[in-house]
Amino acid sequence: MLDSAFFHRWTVAVAAAVDREADRLTELDSAIGDADHGSNLRRGFAAVVDAQGEDPPGSPGAVLGFAGRKLISTVGGASGPLYGTLLRRTGKALGETPEVSVAELAAALRAGTDAVAQLGGAAPGDKTMLDALIPAVEALETAAEKDDTKDDAAAAFRAARDAAESGALATVPLRARKGRASYLGERSVGHQDPGATSAALLFRTFAEIAEV
Ligand code: ADP
Ligand code: MG
Ligand code: MG
Repeated sequence: MLDSAFFHRWTVAVAAAVDREADRLTELDSAIGDADHGSNLRRGFAAVVDAQGEDPPGSPGAVLGFAGRKLISTVGGASGPLYGTLLRRTGKALGETPEVSVAELAAALRAGTDAVAQLGGAAPGDKTMLDALIPAVEALETAAEKDDTKDDAAAAFRAARDAAESGALATVPLRARKGRASYLGERSVGHQDPGATSAALLFRTFAEIAEV
């Protein structure tokens, strides 16, 4: 089972990962956007970590809800409201229960990704963060359904990470249909989507902290 300390650790580890990868994310965004994706997320997750302090609240849902609201209020770019909505909606779906299973998290993340799709109007294949988020959630759902991995959160998160990373790589040949990159039309082809890349980072971080 995953408790609020796990999600609190995740926010701190995501902030560190985003900080480490910020230059790469911004470089990807400079090819098909406005070169701010790394700095947007760095600012957002640093604000989350600053504001939440050392002690996690009593439930996973509360940790994610708080982080989501903070992202929305600190990140001006498209990714702030979108990731903020992801975390807020996922947190809301988890409710106030003090511990959640991987299956419950997968179902909540499904609600979160649906909310992202609704807010941004994007579909799979539009070359957005959804192209990493949706396969990751699917992999998490599938892993959680299998009896042999039911109690093995680490294996489920590894499967989700692999799916997210494949999904991010698979955005390279796509033509962007949403967000700034869509203004480039055909010229967006041949570049990896920055948001799909950062979405994979979120799941890589789940996999890392689930190992320990
Ligand atoms: P901005 O484009 O406002 O500068 P960022 O650079 O922080 O914001 O984020 C860009 C990323 O946001 C894109 O790479 C893409 O993955 C994601 N994105 C943009 N628009 C949408 C949308 N409508 N739906 C889903 N994701 C989107
Ligand atoms: Mg940008
Ligand atoms: Mg911008």
